Amino acid sequence: MSADPRRALPSVEELLTSPPLRALATEAPRGLLVDASRAVLDDARAALSDGDATPPSPDELSSRVAARVAERLRPSLRPVLNATGVVLHTNLGRAPLPESAIQAMIDVSRGYSNLEYEIDSGSRGSRYDHCAGLLRELTGAQAALVVNNNAAAVVLALNTMALGRDVIVSRGELVEIGGSFRIADMVERAGARLVEVGATNKTRFADYERALGTRTGALLKVHRSNFAVRGFVEEVSAAELAPLARSHGVPLVHDLGSGLLLEPPPEPLQDETSAPGALADGATVVTMSGDKLLGGPQAGLIVGDADAVEAMRRNPLCRAVRPDRTTLAALEATLALYRDPERALKAVPALRMMRAPLARLRERAHRFAGRLAERGIPCEVRDGDSAIGGGAAPETPLPSALVLVRPKGVSADALLAALRTGEPPIVARIVDDRVALDLRTVRDDEEPALLAGVAAAVERASRLRHA
Ligand SMILES: *Cc1c(COP(=O)(O)O)cnc(C)c1O
Repeated sequence: MSADPRRALPSVEELLTSPPLRALATEAPRGLLVDASRAVLDDARAALSDGDATPPSPDELSSRVAARVAERLRPSLRPVLNATGVVLHTNLGRAPLPESAIQAMIDVSRGYSNLEYEIDSGSRGSRYDHCAGLLRELTGAQAALVVNNNAAAVVLALNTMALGRDVIVSRGELVEIGGSFRIADMVERAGARLVEVGATNKTRFADYERALGTRTGALLKVHRSNFAVRGFVEEVSAAELAPLARSHGVPLVHDLGSGLLLEPPPEPLQDETSAPGALADGATVVTMSGDKLLGGPQAGLIVGDADAVEAMRRNPLCRAVRPDRTTLAALEATLALYRDPERALKAVPALRMMRAPLARLRERAHRFAGRLAERGIPCEVRDGDSAIGGGAAPETPLPSALVLVRPKGVSADALLAALRTGEPPIVARIVDDRVALDLRTVRDDEEPALLAGVAAAVERASRLRHA
C-alpha cells in the first residue's frame, strides 16, 4: 500500500517560504498570502481525496497561490471592452466621457476647488450654481438644478410639487427602468399618490381631464424609453397636456430620461424629444439623465420654471441627492461642448459612436477580421445592428458591421465566457451561434487590446476543450 499522497503536500509555512511566494510577499500583504496558500492547499488535499493520484508540483502550487492573490488584489470596478455595439449600455457604465470631461474631473479632484465658494466675494457659494448657467443657455430654461441621477430628479420634483397630493400618469407610461425600478414606486416613495389614467395602449385627453381635481399635485409625462407600444395606440402629447395643466394651475413634470440637448435632434435621434423641445412644448419642469444621450457623467438634470426649481433647491431632500465635485466638473465640461453643436457631435463619444458611418464601421470590421485571420482565427464580416441603448429610441437599430468569430470545436458560449474572463474583460454577444464583435463601441486605440484579448480567449477556450 503506498503512502497517503496528501502527506506529500507542503505546509502553509513551507509554501510561503518558496522563492516565488517570497518574491510576491514584497507586493502583497502577508494575510492575503496566508489565506490564498491555505485555500490552495485545501483544494489540493480535497482533489487528492477525490482520487487525484499525485500532488501538484511546488511550482504549480505557488502559481495557483499567485493567481488567487492577483484576483484578490484586482479592483472590483475596472474597465472592460464593450464589443456589444450597445452605445449606452447601463450595465457597462453608460456614456464614455469626452476627454475634456475626464480632464476636468482630474483637475477638480487632485486638490481643492471653489465647489461652494464665491471667489469674487470670498463668501460661501452654492454647488448648484456651477452648471445652472450653461443649462439655461443650452435649453432656454429659466432655471436649472443638477442632482445625483434622473431617478433622484423625478423623486425630488414630485416630492417638492406633489407631496401628499395626486400625481396623474398614463397607464401606458408606468415604465420600469433597469434593475426593477418602477415609476409607480418612485411616485409613492416621493410621498405622492399615484393616479393612473387610460389603458396600457390608449390614453386620451379626456382621461386626464376627468382625473384632474382639487387633490391634483402634478401631471407626469414619462418618456417610454426602453420599449415601444405599437398597433392600436393613442397617447396625449406633452404639448397637449401643458395647457390642461396650466388651466388647472398644476405643474406638468416631463420625465424625458434620455437627455438630448440638440434641437433639432440629429440623426439617428430624429424621433427623440430634446430637452429644449420638451420645454417649448410647455412642461413646467423637464428631468433627464446626464449619462444617456447627453453623453456625460451620471447626473440628474432638472430644467424649467424658476419658482419650481427654486422650491426643489430648498427641499431638504435636495441635500440627500446632491452631486459631487467630479460629477459637476465632468458635466460642465460636457455641456460646454454643446455651445457648438458640430463640436458636440464630434467630441461627445456617445454621439460620435451613434453616428459612426456604416462605411467606416465596415472598413474597421474588415481590417480587424484580417488581423484575426492572420492569427489563424476563422471569422467573417457580416452586416448587423448595433443599438443606442440607455432607454433611447428602442426601435431605432443602427446598421453596423459585425465580426463573427467561431473557431472550430469551440462553442460560442465557451468563447463568450473566455472573452469575459480575460484581462481586460471583453463583453460581446452571440449572433447565429457565433460570437459577434461590433467595433462601433470600441475606440480605435482599444483595438489592439481587443485583438490580443480575442486571440487569448480563443486559445484558452480551445485549450479547455482539449484538456
Ligand atoms: C433612465 C431613465 C430614468 C432613470 O434615470 P437614471 O439617471 O438612471 O436615474 C428615469 N426615467 C426615464 C424615462 C428614463 O429613461
